[in-house]
Amino acid sequence: MSFISRAIQNLRGDQIRKKTVDSQTVSFRLSNNLTKALGFDVYFYLVGDILIDTGFSHVQKTVVSALQKEEINLICCTHNHEDHTGNCAILAKQHNCEVYLKNSEDLLCDGVGSLYPYRKLFWGHLEPYLAKEVPEEVSTNAKMLKVIDSPGHSKTHVVYFDQDTGNVFTGDLVVSPGVSGVMTQERPLELIQSLRRVAALNPERMLSGHGMDVRAPVALLNRKADRIEKAIDDVKKLAKQGLQKSQIKKRVFKHGHGRDAFVATITQGQYSRDNFIKACLQDF
Ligand SMILES: [Zn+2]
Repeated sequence: MSFISRAIQNLRGDQIRKKTVDSQTVSFRLSNNLTKALGFDVYFYLVGDILIDTGFSHVQKTVVSALQKEEINLICCTHNHEDHTGNCAILAKQHNCEVYLKNSEDLLCDGVGSLYPYRKLFWGHLEPYLAKEVPEEVSTNAKMLKVIDSPGHSKTHVVYFDQDTGNVFTGDLVVSPGVSGVMTQERPLELIQSLRRVAALNPERMLSGHGMDVRAPVALLNRKADRIEKAIDDVKKLAKQGLQKSQIKKRVFKHGHGRDAFVATITQGQYSRDNFIKACLQDF
């Protein structure tokens, strides 16, 4: 590693922390000063010999070295966002394995073809990789996972369910327990169906792409779906009454408008509560 890249790495404070979840599952937590400022560390998981997601490319060297001695025979992506699939290309090459993704023919959807500056700043670029279409079940000689279609956050989004342990790996399906701002391409109505579909599996533990680790998550999944459903109804009712989008936003989201404005500004409007209101009204 060159002096400059080592200095940048030290300045950013790149870290990877490996933790045993259970006898078949290991989590890897990626963080640095930027992810801490945003409040979103990134997690990926090794389940048997299947790697679920690969983290972001800013920490590529750290990730590659942490996984060097692990046996990885398959990479499965929850969805194609650069904070979760940023190291697919190099890890697939190093471990000589295939990568699975849903809607793999559309690798450049969700704005990853031309990343906004904040996405490059926080996560780094997304190196192109070859992916095969994810089947309904993924397996190696050692492990099998069920694949559950879960669009809403991204059209490439799936969830992986390990029937041996009862663990469900939910990527960005649940980033927070309540109703939040969304990215421009997100579809809250689809998210509701996805949350209910995952709840119906009756998983014992939920492990997410940004660190939520929830035991017996069915109630949380259904509650989030209920909350989004109610928020969509409220938005439509208020629109019918003739309220402007800004007024609707204040009625539907009671608190945290300062943080929403901050996030909307740094993401150039790509992540905001305004996007949620717009998405609710798009077919209205
Ligand atoms: Zn995402």
